[in-house]
This record gives sequence, structure tokens and C-alpha cells, in this order.
Amino acid sequence: MFQHVDVYPGDPILTLNESFAGDPRPNKVNLSIGVFLDDARRLPIMGAVLEAETAILKQIGTRPYLPMEGAPSYRKAAQSLLFGDDSMAVGEKRIATVQTIGGSGALKVGADFLKAYFPDAQVWICDPSWDNHRSIFSGAGFKVHAYPYYSPVTQGVDFEAMKAALQKVPQGDIVLLHACCHNPTGADLTEQQWRELVPVFRERRLLPFFDIAYQGFGEGIEQDAFAIRHFTSEGLVSMVASSFSKNFSLYGERCGSLNVVCPDSAQAENVLGQLKSAVRRNYSSPPTHGARIVAMVLEDMRGRWEDELTAMRSRILAMRSGLYDALHASRPDRNFDYLLKQKGMFSYTGLSQEQVRRLREEYGVYLIGSGRMCMAALTQDTIAPVAEAIVKVLD
Ligand code: PMP
Repeated sequence: MFQHVDVYPGDPILTLNESFAGDPRPNKVNLSIGVFLDDARRLPIMGAVLEAETAILKQIGTRPYLPMEGAPSYRKAAQSLLFGDDSMAVGEKRIATVQTIGGSGALKVGADFLKAYFPDAQVWICDPSWDNHRSIFSGAGFKVHAYPYYSPVTQGVDFEAMKAALQKVPQGDIVLLHACCHNPTGADLTEQQWRELVPVFRERRLLPFFDIAYQGFGEGIEQDAFAIRHFTSEGLVSMVASSFSKNFSLYGERCGSLNVVCPDSAQAENVLGQLKSAVRRNYSSPPTHGARIVAMVLEDMRGRWEDELTAMRSRILAMRSGLYDALHASRPDRNFDYLLKQKGMFSYTGLSQEQVRRLREEYGVYLIGSGRMCMAALTQDTIAPVAEAIVKVLD
């Protein structure tokens, strides 16, 4: 019956994680998967999250299904974090928001909704992008293309090439954008560059689909939401998939949201209905526990949570400058500025597949094949050995 079922080669990042777990070397360092570790190399449990969870456990009651669209308090909190407490679009009830199973679930529900209502549109993702973008949108039946994004020469965004390519995207197509902390490169657009993209989207009637999985890891909650808020205040419609996996350190609780910014509240209501329908035919309704934590923290402990998030961001910045200093001290002839310029959890090191292989096999330092390094998994005591290993594989 199932003879024709192909072997699943595995997800490249998750497979690497399994190899790391099986590696017996005590000094191995995993900088492949995108997780934030504290300096003791543990996934942190944020204080605000723990307090909320403890309070929730004390009042545990029955567990009815949530509605298809998720918990009202969670949806409201997620919306204001993305669009701002004083957002006009929120006030005008122009945003249809559903609770989703992580950021991935938001992308999937969004992709299914779009395929039903824009069946002929094509999807454009940046080159490179998070691998699952292509899988999710092509899995939903879309043709997925790439637009230029990263320049290996400047180790930043090739904005001119990106803009020129978007100016040629067929009218009405869907363009996926990383709102902040680009995965895998860490190279983000400036506010000015986001501003310059608005007329391109408007003139070509393109649908921006923002993915924001790292809000707060770049420069701060407000600053990291700039692109989303700017497009919205310019009157553009858009879609936004958000994730609380990283900024609440709640990975396995699968907390995310999908938001569709509509021209008016009547359209938003219809869109919300169709998002509910997409949820219903995928998994019926979202889970309760993580959403209760997120809602309680954002309602009652927002300041405390933001302080903890700021400390996480500062730790990443300290790792960036620590690695920069160590590499610069050994190889002053090479330019490692990218470590300081790139934002968020990841940096694109420019190391080749072969150098990445040597790092892993000879030194037990795990990066992904593209040369992406997770800066948020580096710690004070791993900076020196990681820098030494990198220097050994450099030409
Ligand atoms: N988008 C990007 C760019 C990501 O890096 C990730 C997580 N790695 C996601 C979406 C998905 O987030 P989640 O784990 O909450 O599904």
C-alpha cells in the first residue's frame, strides 16, 4: 500500500540538531538551530512567563475548546504588540487577527486563505529566506519565486537589486518580507528603505506578507515593528504572521498570530470568517495553555517582560561584539564588521560549505550549511573556542 512513499530526507536544520545530540565530544557547540540560550547554555524561562504560568496553574479549571480564531484576550494583545497600542487600523477594526500554532501555523493559515481567494497569484520570497517559507507556500499550491536580497560582498541587503526586482513582480502577486532580524542573514532594511518600498507595493498592487518571528531581538518592540506599522499607516493592506516562540522563550507552546490588515471593518469581518474556516479545516481550533500565558504577561506584566527581553537582546549584542573582538584580534586583516551590523539571532558568516563542514567535523562547532550562525546560542565561555575554530578554517 505504501511502497511508493518516498523517504523523508529530514529538515536540514533539525537533522543537524540530531547529529549534534549524538556527538560525543564534550566541547561541542551548537550554533545551528535558532534558539536563544542564556549564558549557562539553557533555554531561559522568563520570570514574567513563570509568574503568569504559576498563577494560571493555581486557577486551573475545565478545558473547553477555544473558538476557531483563538482567545479574545490573546488576539487583542498580539494585535497591539504588532500594530501599536494607539494604532488607527486597530481602532477602526480593520485588522482580522487569529491565534495560530506558532509563526509557522500563521504562515500556513495565511497561505491557505490566499490560495482560496487569490488562486492565480504567485509568491515571492527573498533570496535567501527561511527554508520553510518555500515549503509552506508551495505546499499550499503556490508557485514560489525568489527576489534578490542579500549581497555577499557587502554582507548586507542589496536594496537596489531587491527594489528593481520588486518593480517587475507581476501585479497582484504576494511578496513575503522579513519585518526584522532577517533569517538567515541578520541583514535588515533601514527605515528609509522600507519607506521607499511603499510606492512599489502601491503601484504594482502587490500584497505584502510580513513575517515577524523575532520582534524585540533587533532594536526593540516598537522599532522592530516599524515596517508593519509604516505600511499600515500608509494605508496599504498587508498580512502579518507573528511568533512568540523566541521573544517569550515559549517554543513548544506554539504561540503565534495571523493578522490581515483590510481596507475597512466590513472586509475585515469577512476575512476573519475565512481565516476561521482555514483554521477549521486545518486543525479546528488552537491550543489554550501558551496563549493564556502570553495574554496574561502582555496584559499584566508587560514592563517586566520587556525588561527581560531587553536583557536577552543585550546578551546577543555582547556575543556579537565578543566574537568580533576575538576574531579581529587573531585576524586584523579580515573584516568581521558584519557581526556588529547584522541584527537579531543570526549572522551570515560567509563561510563556505567546506569551512562549515570542517568546523563541525574537526572542531565540533555546528553551523548550518549556508554559513548561518546562531549568535544567540553563543555564550561567554564558547566565544574563545568558536573564534579559534573559525580562524583555523579561514584561508
Ligand atoms: N519565520 C521565521 C523567519 C522563523 O525563523 C521562524 C522560526 N524559526 C518562524 C517563522 C516560525 O516560528 P514558530 O517556531 O513560532 O513556528
